[in-house]
Amino acid sequence: MGKALIAGNWKMNGLAAQAEALALAVREGAAEVRDRAEILICPPATVLAMVARAMRGGPVMVGGQDCHMKGEGAHTGDISAEMLKDAGASHVIVGHSERRTDHGETNAMVMGKARMAMNFELRPILCIGETLAEREQGRAREVVQDQMSNSIPDGFEEAGGIVAYEPVWAIGTGRTASEDEIAEMHSFIRSLLGSRRMASVPILYGGSVKPANARAILALPEVGGALVGGASLVAADFLAIAAAAP
Ligand code: PEP
Repeated sequence: MGKALIAGNWKMNGLAAQAEALALAVREGAAEVRDRAEILICPPATVLAMVARAMRGGPVMVGGQDCHMKGEGAHTGDISAEMLKDAGASHVIVGHSERRTDHGETNAMVMGKARMAMNFELRPILCIGETLAEREQGRAREVVQDQMSNSIPDGFEEAGGIVAYEPVWAIGTGRTASEDEIAEMHSFIRSLLGSRRMASVPILYGGSVKPANARAILALPEVGGALVGGASLVAADFLAIAAAAP
């Protein structure tokens, strides 16, 4: 496995001044961790171009939080993959559980978004993960398998695609999956990727990753990095997570 990717999902947080200060603080500390981790920040779309300009020439990459599955047109309020690329993004998160829940995104839509990202040379970070009810019903693997089969497009590996396993019940709840649960699901995802000849696709873990648990999580087999929500809004915490990469 290569260097860990530590990706920060700022979600709907960050006015211009705050966003710039946070990004600059991440950039400042990134030099110290660059030999062990690649750092990506995904700010809200309104500040993405400004943040990307501020990060230019440095080690911190910038990504979008979502893109539309169509290239352009009558889609009020939406953002295309090409717009993100134009604004300076290198990556885009697709299929985050908050998008799947709040905006009714289906696997087919997520696949369309990933395809569109790939068309514009953005690396998709495609999120999958089961809800608590699905886990309690013993359906976690089935759900993850279904999401993978129906939302990961062909050509994903060649386009630099990344999978993020994010059990929905661990996102923003302070409840992290146990090391055994993470290791077991990552190994299952690795085998599914292998069966599609996508063996080198990195698999990130996401769900309440913080400085206190990052070292143990990032050391697990098949964990190629972390997708971090809440803790990515505090530069010192986000950088401490990156510094915990093996
Ligand atoms: C996320 O939104 O992808 C996430 C993992 O959030 P948190 O770290 O806050 O659980």
